[in-house]
Amino acid sequence: MPGTGAVIMAYNMDEAEELKPYLVEAPAEMSRRIDALKQQGKKIGLVPTMGALHLGHMSLAIAAKNECDVVVVSDFVNPTQFAPGEDYDKYPRMIDADLTLLSQIKTDYLFAPSPQAMYPNGFDAKVHVGGVTEILEGAFRPTHFDGVTTVVLKLFMLTRADVAYFGQKDYQQFCVIKKMVEDLNLPTMVEMCPIIREADGLAMSSRNRYLSDEERERALVLNRSLEEAERMIHSGERDVETIRKRMRAMILEADPNAQIDYIHFGNTQTLQEMERAVGNVVALLAVRIGSTRLIDNRIIRPKANA
Ligand code: AMP
Repeated sequence: MPGTGAVIMAYNMDEAEELKPYLVEAPAEMSRRIDALKQQGKKIGLVPTMGALHLGHMSLAIAAKNECDVVVVSDFVNPTQFAPGEDYDKYPRMIDADLTLLSQIKTDYLFAPSPQAMYPNGFDAKVHVGGVTEILEGAFRPTHFDGVTTVVLKLFMLTRADVAYFGQKDYQQFCVIKKMVEDLNLPTMVEMCPIIREADGLAMSSRNRYLSDEERERALVLNRSLEEAERMIHSGERDVETIRKRMRAMILEADPNAQIDYIHFGNTQTLQEMERAVGNVVALLAVRIGSTRLIDNRIIRPKANA
C-alpha cells in the first residue's frame, strides 16, 4: 500500500496511541454506547468494512467524519457472505494495523465483533433482496448478497446509523443495500463514495495483497479496459458488444489465462443490461487473475459536448 506507511510514520507514535478509535467487541456494548450518543443528539456515521483497511476505506471514514458527529467503522470478516471454498479463512485480519491507520483521522469507534457474537448459536434470520441480487456477483456467488444484507442490517440496527458510507468499488453491493433501505423503509441514509485507486490505476482492495508482482502488473489492464470503454463511448461507439469485445481482447492480451466472469454495461440505478451505451452507463467487470478474483467498474457519462 504505497503511501500509507509514510503517512503513519509522520505521527508521533504515542500521540497515535491516544488518537486510536475506541475498540468495541460486544454488540450489546456498541448498542449501549450508541443509545447514550443518540440521547445527546449525535449524528452517527457508519463505515462497514471487513478490515485490512486501506485508503479506499479511509476515504469513506473521512466522508463520515466530515458529515457526522460520531464515526463508527466496523471491522468484521462476515462469514455468511463467503461461500465454501472462497477466501474466508485466508482473508487478512489485522485489527491493530486498522486501529493505527484510523488514528490518523481520529475515528471514534472501531466495532470488531466476533462471528459468534454476531451469529450466536441458533441464529436463524436472513435478509433477502430480490432482483438486483440475481445478476453479476449474485450469479457467480449465489449466497453472497444475503450474507451482505443480513450483516449490514444488523450493523444498521446496532449503530442506529444516520448515514452509512459505501464504496463505488462494490457498485452492485451499493445498489442492493440502497434497495434494502428503500424496500424496508430503513431510517439510515446510504452514500456512495468514489473508487480510490493506486497511482497506476489499480482499484485498492484488501484482496490485492494476494497478487504476485506479475499478477498485479497484469491486473492493471482491468482499469485500462474500463478507460478504453469510456474512450470508445466518448468517440461515438454505442454498440456494447463491440466495446465488450475490445475490452475482452485487451484483458486476454495482458493475461491469456485471465478468467473473465463478466463485462457488463448496465443502467446506473437498476444495473439492467444495456445493449446500446446511451446516457449514463455503468461498466462493471469481474476477472480472475491467477487465483485472485478482482472486480472494478466505471460510471461513464455522455461526453460533456456530445
Ligand atoms: P470491504 O472491506 O472490501 O468489504 O469494503 C468495505 C467498504 O469499503 C465497501 O463499501 C467498499 O466498497 C469500500 N471500498 C473498498 N475498496 C475501495 C476503494 N478502492 N475505493 C473506495 N471504497 C472502497
